[in-house]
Amino acid sequence: MKTKKKKPISPLNSPKEVQCFQCQKTFSLTFVVPKWDYSSKNNWDYWTEKEENKGKYICNDCLLDLYYNHKKEYWKLVTNLRKRQQMRTYVYDGTIS
Ligand SMILES: [Zn+2]
Repeated sequence: MKTKKKKPISPLNSPKEVQCFQCQKTFSLTFVVPKWDYSSKNNWDYWTEKEENKGKYICNDCLLDLYYNHKKEYWKLVTNLRKRQQMRTYVYDGTIS
């Protein structure tokens, strides 16, 4: 038997506002239509894979600042090589800008 899926209210019209844990700035999460979910690029626990960072968001400015200006810290915080590669891709293709 098939379970009926509830159609979500379009989040395209209601961007999710979150606060950056670093600079306290409020920003909107990017909604990814093919995924039908918010982009995880601003989820701090997505990059660090640390339980304690669950629910923490980081804005693009802080991500770029960390990536460009605090490389040592970045390497310490983001340890997953696959995630580092993804971050590099995001930075260079302008997904994080
Ligand atoms: Zn920030």
